Amino acid sequence: SAAKERPGRTARYGVEMETGGNLAPSLIGELRGALDRGEIVLHYQPQVEVRTGRVLGVEALARWQHPEHGLLGPDSFIAAAERTGIIGPLTQYVLDRALAQCAIWRRAGLPLTVAVNLSVRNLLDPGLVDDVRAALSRHGLEANVLELEITEGTAMVDPRRSLQVLGTLADMGVLLSIDDYGTGHSSLAYLQRLPVRRLKIDRSFVTGLVDDEPSAAIVRSTIELARHLGLDVVAEGVEDDVTLLRLHAMACFAVQGFGLGRPVPPLLLPDLVDQIEARVPDVVRGLGVVD
Ligand code: C2E
Ligand code: MG
Ligand code: MG
Ligand code: MG
Repeated sequence: SAAKERPGRTARYGVEMETGGNLAPSLIGELRGALDRGEIVLHYQPQVEVRTGRVLGVEALARWQHPEHGLLGPDSFIAAAERTGIIGPLTQYVLDRALAQCAIWRRAGLPLTVAVNLSVRNLLDPGLVDDVRAALSRHGLEANVLELEITEGTAMVDPRRSLQVLGTLADMGVLLSIDDYGTGHSSLAYLQRLPVRRLKIDRSFVTGLVDDEPSAAIVRSTIELARHLGLDVVAEGVEDDVTLLRLHAMACFAVQGFGLGRPVPPLLLPDLVDQIEARVPDVVRGLGVVD
C-alpha cells in the first residue's frame, strides 16, 4: 500500500531518537537531575506470543527526554549511569514507573506483564529483593506480572550471589529472563542452573535468520535446546513477517521487534496491542505474506 512505501514510516509514532555515541561529560552530570526532574521516560515494546498472536506483555525501555537534545536512547546514557552509580536510583525509578503503568493497564482490562532490564550493579545490590517487593506492593501487584531481564554477563559476574538473589526472586514468583542470549560467553550448562524461565535470543541472530543459514541454525538449535531445558525462547529484533513465519515454523514461543511494534509511549500502547492482535494471527497462518 502507499502508506507502506511512505518514507519515514519507521517514525510513524513520532518517537525518533538519538542513539549511539557516548554521553558528553556535561550530560553525565545532568543525569541525576534528569531523574529528579522526571526527564527519564519509559517506552513500552510489545512481546507477542507467536502461536496465538496475543500480546503477553511489554518491555519497559528507558529514554531521556532532554530539554535541549531531544529524546536520547538508553545507549547514550545507561553505560554512564552504570559507571557513576546512578543506575541504582534509575532502576528503582524504572521499576516503580513500569509497575505503576502495568497496574493502570490491568485495571483497564489489559492484562499485560511488564519487563524491566537489570544491570549488574542492580543484581549485586543487597537491597534489590526488598526494592522489588516494595514496588510490587506499592502498586498492588502480584510478583508474576513482573519480568526481570539480565544478560549472561550480568549473571556471570558473581555466580554464587546471582544464584541466591535470582532464587529468591523466582521463589517470589518473578519471571526471570536471560537477555541478549548468544552474545555472552556463558554456556547453557551454567544458565540452566539459574532459575530463569526465558531466553531472549539476541537480535544479531534473528536479523540474519532469513538470509543467513548459520544464524538460522543457531536460532533453531537454541529453541530446540531450550525446549529440552524447559525454557521459553523469545526472539528479539523481528523486523518483518517472513522472519516471524520462520520463527513460527521453529516453534519459537514469543517475539519482539519493530516488525510487530516499536517501543511506544504508554498512551499509544493499547491501540498497538489491538493492531498486533488483529494482524499477527493471519500472518502466522500464512495469510498476506509473500515469502
Ligand atoms: P534490550 O534490553 O536488549 O532491549 C531491546 C532493544 O532493541 C531496544 O533498544 C529496542 O528498541 C531494540 N529493538 C527492538 N526491536 C528491534 C528491531 O526489530 N530492530 C532493531 N534494530 N532494534 C530493535 P533500546 O530501547 O535502544 O535499548 C537498548 C538497550 O538499553 C536495551 O537492550 C537494554 O540493554 C538497555 N536499557 C534500556 N532501558 C533500560 C533500563 O531501564 N535499565 C537498564 N539497565 N538498561 C536499559
Ligand atoms: Mg531487555
Ligand atoms: Mg535484548
Ligand atoms: Mg540489548
